[in-house]
Amino acid sequence: MERQGILAVVSGFSGAGKGTLMKELLARYDNYALSVSATTRKPREGEVDGREYFFVSKERFQQMIEEGSLVEYAQYVNHYYGTPRDYVMQKMAQGKDVILEIEIQGALKVKKRFPDALLLFITPPSAKELCRRLVGRGTETIEVINARLHRAAEEAAGMEAYDYLLINDEIDRCVEEMHRLIQLQHRRTVFHLDFLNQMREELKTLDARSAIEEA
Ligand code: 5GP
Repeated sequence: MERQGILAVVSGFSGAGKGTLMKELLARYDNYALSVSATTRKPREGEVDGREYFFVSKERFQQMIEEGSLVEYAQYVNHYYGTPRDYVMQKMAQGKDVILEIEIQGALKVKKRFPDALLLFITPPSAKELCRRLVGRGTETIEVINARLHRAAEEAAGMEAYDYLLINDEIDRCVEEMHRLIQLQHRRTVFHLDFLNQMREELKTLDARSAIEEA
């Protein structure tokens, strides 16, 4: 049976540890494809164009919107972020489970456009822990961290829109839980309509007597 890939959206507060979780998930299993977003923000130290993000100008981003080449896009703390469409569609068609690591506005747009997408929300065990991780990361100024914490408070209002909550208290456990949830999604009835129809048809015509005779 041809198996179409699952579209999984992973969101979580900045500092929830999504990046580390994604890296670990991809290192352990080879059926995943992580979408690389386009963004107008500047690269952080160590980030490589085309790996973490496609770093583009505002003009180029605008052009991508107009061309319709983004599945979704959103503004996040003064910058634009968007998901290139072609990669997502190609990988899903190849049977890969595609992961979008995006913020909440984008996640909601994806759910509208792809109602069968699985939405996962990752959070640290507590708000205090979130703050500690953001400060500990040392990649942003205090102003930016505070803007991100403020944004986290806004995003927290929409957590119920997600299908599942993952608490990132321990990377190993969290990665396995995420993997199980995504793989379980393959068993959803909506992805097996041909099989269900065939079963229905066969059930209509089956007869116990002929089964005994055949045995
Ligand atoms: P960061 O600047 O920390 O890399 O990302 C900031 C936020 O933007 C994160 O919550 C991240 O998940 C989100 N983000 C990254 N790529 C996209 C995207 O393509 N679309 C949307 N809507 N959000 C994104």
